[in-house]
Amino acid sequence: MKRKRLLALFAGGVFIAAVMSLHRMLEQGAEPQQEAPAGQGDQDLSRLAQKIDRLERLLSDNNRLVATLRDSLLHPKGDNIGGANVSSAHSPADPLPGCRLADETKGGADEVQLLDVYDRLPFDNPPGGVWKQGFDIRYQGDEWDETPLEVILVPHSHNDPGWLKTFDNYYHDQTKHILNNMLTKLSEDSRRKMIWAEISYFSRWWEELDQKKRDTVKRLLAGGQLEMVTGGWVMADEANSHYYALLDQLIEGHQWIQTHLGVKPSSGWAIDPFGHSPSMAYLLKGAGLSNMVIQRVHYAVKKEFARQQTLEFRWRQSWDSSPLSDITCHMMPFYSYDVPHTCGPDPAVCCQFDFHRLPGGRVFCPWRVPPQPITEQNVQERALLLLDQYRRKSRLFRSPVLFVPLGDDFRFVEPSEWDAQFRNYQQLFAFFQTHPELHVSVRTPSLLPLLLSLKAL
Ligand SMILES: [Zn+2]
Repeated sequence: MKRKRLLALFAGGVFIAAVMSLHRMLEQGAEPQQEAPAGQGDQDLSRLAQKIDRLERLLSDNNRLVATLRDSLLHPKGDNIGGANVSSAHSPADPLPGCRLADETKGGADEVQLLDVYDRLPFDNPPGGVWKQGFDIRYQGDEWDETPLEVILVPHSHNDPGWLKTFDNYYHDQTKHILNNMLTKLSEDSRRKMIWAEISYFSRWWEELDQKKRDTVKRLLAGGQLEMVTGGWVMADEANSHYYALLDQLIEGHQWIQTHLGVKPSSGWAIDPFGHSPSMAYLLKGAGLSNMVIQRVHYAVKKEFARQQTLEFRWRQSWDSSPLSDITCHMMPFYSYDVPHTCGPDPAVCCQFDFHRLPGGRVFCPWRVPPQPITEQNVQERALLLLDQYRRKSRLFRSPVLFVPLGDDFRFVEPSEWDAQFRNYQQLFAFFQTHPELHVSVRTPSLLPLLLSLKAL
């Protein structure tokens, strides 16, 4: 503290001296101009411009001097502040002292500076087999003999508060039915889970609920069957929004949740924003969240992270050399958050495990291989086909825990969709359960917090 006070006094003194000397120089510069004869306007202007340039240089030198002095006081033993030992292309050769970037405190080979990755990647588009911009994922089959593969299935429904329809039209046509069905279908079976992100819709629906239904919602939350994720008023765009707007909608949603539901979200869920911002990660951490899931990242980055098995990471602010701003992040590896792109690398196979697309329905698989209802006759073949996708996907992560979202835009509108998904998946999972030699277990636990704590890096 003593050193800090001394430092503050010293820096203040240097600052005052710098301001006074600048003021004097300005005065000196202004006097002869007043005496200059008329007709020399151009010359005077150019002389003035030169003086301003000089003053700017002096000001910059002064700033540099103050920062250098401050650092020499803070690090008297000559600690390496300048980052000379960092090979990052984004570490300036002669960095301004004072601001110690996280990049300069790189601890191990696993540290990734995203700006370096951008420099390194060619952003080409090589064919990657069924995972179009990826690579062929292989496995031996004995990788899970010691530690079984643990699959965490997370049902979700992405509800844009206004996109092709208005907020109200979406609410009346789809969202209120999704939430009504959620109440019924989760109450029927405690193994069923769901997450919800958009509080603008949830609060709108809540207004219409009687006390009995509100109590059911609270019971589902307490039992871990329903989980509020992110808890923002919307799933905010992170590319164009000012951080104030990001924060404002987050406060709005969190206050509503706290007032009406009495819970606190612990995981972020951002599957549809087009690009992700470190500011959002920072705000989520500041709002008390400890994990987050992101999806729309350039395929070249996903591919690189998949190859390095760094799709799950601790996101650190580039200006923060301490772990205080760190938040655990899971980056989805494939093209989209729909079922064809979340069970594994092959969308043609994964689509067969979206039972909302069973023949006869309104949606179908564009890969022209439809799902089949799971029966006693086909359960083995179907379960092994799905397990193959799970295993391939899991090779992209270091953890034996595999996160598999199950949902899409405005999903679970009709009760039949809930039944189709849960009934068929329960049969597949029952098969895994009765075949320990497959070394796979499937759970829908208290969703993301458990999932991501298991994945703690
Ligand atoms: Zn969306």
